Amino acid sequence: MANPLYDALFAPHEGKATPFLHLADGTGVTHAGFLEQVSQMANALGAVGVVPGDRVAVHIEKSPEALALYAACVKSGAVFLPLNTAYTPAELSYFVEDSGATLFLCDPAEVEAVTGIAKSTGATLHSLGAKGDGSFMDLARTQSSHSDIATRGTDDLAALLYTSGTTGRSKGAMLTQANLLSNAEALVEAWKFTEQDILLHALPIFHTHGLFVATNTLLLAGGAMIFLPKFDLDTVLRLMPKATTMMGVPTFYTRLLDDARFTADLASHMRLYISGSAPLLAETHVQFEQRTGHRILERYGMTETNMNTSNPYDGERRAGTVGFALPGVEVKICAPETGGTLPQGEIGVLEVRGPNVFKGYWNMPEKTREELREDGFFITGDLALIDADGYVQIVGRGKDLIISGGYNIYPKEIELFLDTLPGVRESAVIGAPHPDFGESVVAVLVREGTASLDLDAINEAVRENLAGFKRPRVIDVIDALPRNTMGKVQKNQLRETYAGVFQS
Ligand code: ATP
Ligand code: MG
Repeated sequence: MANPLYDALFAPHEGKATPFLHLADGTGVTHAGFLEQVSQMANALGAVGVVPGDRVAVHIEKSPEALALYAACVKSGAVFLPLNTAYTPAELSYFVEDSGATLFLCDPAEVEAVTGIAKSTGATLHSLGAKGDGSFMDLARTQSSHSDIATRGTDDLAALLYTSGTTGRSKGAMLTQANLLSNAEALVEAWKFTEQDILLHALPIFHTHGLFVATNTLLLAGGAMIFLPKFDLDTVLRLMPKATTMMGVPTFYTRLLDDARFTADLASHMRLYISGSAPLLAETHVQFEQRTGHRILERYGMTETNMNTSNPYDGERRAGTVGFALPGVEVKICAPETGGTLPQGEIGVLEVRGPNVFKGYWNMPEKTREELREDGFFITGDLALIDADGYVQIVGRGKDLIISGGYNIYPKEIELFLDTLPGVRESAVIGAPHPDFGESVVAVLVREGTASLDLDAINEAVRENLAGFKRPRVIDVIDALPRNTMGKVQKNQLRETYAGVFQS
């Protein structure tokens, strides 16, 4: 009888009165209290007919209960399927249908909006609910705080996680027990997490970052989390003195830097700040170090593989890079056409192999075959190079590559240049269809502060510094780049907006 993920992450904490979650209102949840609720929920899952292998769709705001549902799924052998709470009913309908979820759990306020979805997909709908309303929570409260641990193998699915949908429709990534466990082990080792750690956790828990990178790592190490519903600056600043580490997306760090209350004092007792999910600007690195003396540790991963690479804990954390392959993980840079390994320094497609690599895309056997090689390497679709010292540099996404008049143009190269210009806070570069060149370059800029930008000077600088084919033919100034909840720039949205700029 075994369930490797439950046995490693949860079972060791059963009955322990140690703090696990510190909540914003000052209350907390102990390991023992959390695991009692997990048992009750696992029993409630059984009571509503969930059996091992069933997908349980969870569309619930970040809360200790939402996290307990993840653990309850692991314990009862169900496949946890978290859904972004920002999804519209139409999006939810797609995910519930595609996954074939048998149970759909939502917040009480959502019941009306999603009843139709449950009916049409055949999933049983339960709201989490309040005490005494007959909801799933009510059912859970009446259950015993002991439940059996379902037997699972390392190759069994633990979660079905949909990708962020940055480059197209989200795909369901099948993650096994071994995928999640091996990554938690690699991260505890790489980032030196111990039971002394208290992680400031302000990320959503429906993505790899907040759910696995943060939570599994802390569970394996036996530490605690300051568990906040979202990144609210006042709350984060108030509670940071109680934390030892923070994991965030780059926008968390820029927002902290924008606030004068974020001082070296506030960060003095922290041992580590980690960033990922989107590229961290070199400028953020520099400003953060100047303000706090801490060098942010940047890492790189994705829904399909959890974490692949990380800058070193000891040793140089190199800006503009995502460091080295994690323990047990291999990365290589390959030619897109042939798949052959490229020499050091050349840009190609990053491929990754290791126990972290997923089992394939749900319901997409062909796509799985295209992207998951027989020798175990996964073709990430990200363009990267490995520098002379072995650090991996993400150059951008293959889908964002601009091909203009036969030239390959890497948007990041142009963005890095534009970001250095006076008055420019950040930029995004995309390709738009062009009648002569196939595609041509469009740049959108966001101003630093409120002063207006001198576009003539910018055009002049562009002419002096960038080869003709790389020069943006259209430069637009906008208030903010469109980003999703993980801080990823939504280039698809920009491409739609500027699709017609070169059409006469
Ligand atoms: P979809 O696959 O649906 O288009 P997505 O790729 O954004 O969406 P995720 O799996 O959430 O979905 O994101 C993984 C991607 O995020 C990586 O492939 C990479 O492009 C990007 N990413 C993650 N960390 C970093 C980082 N440190 N630097 C640059 N890019 C990063
Ligand atoms: Mg992706």
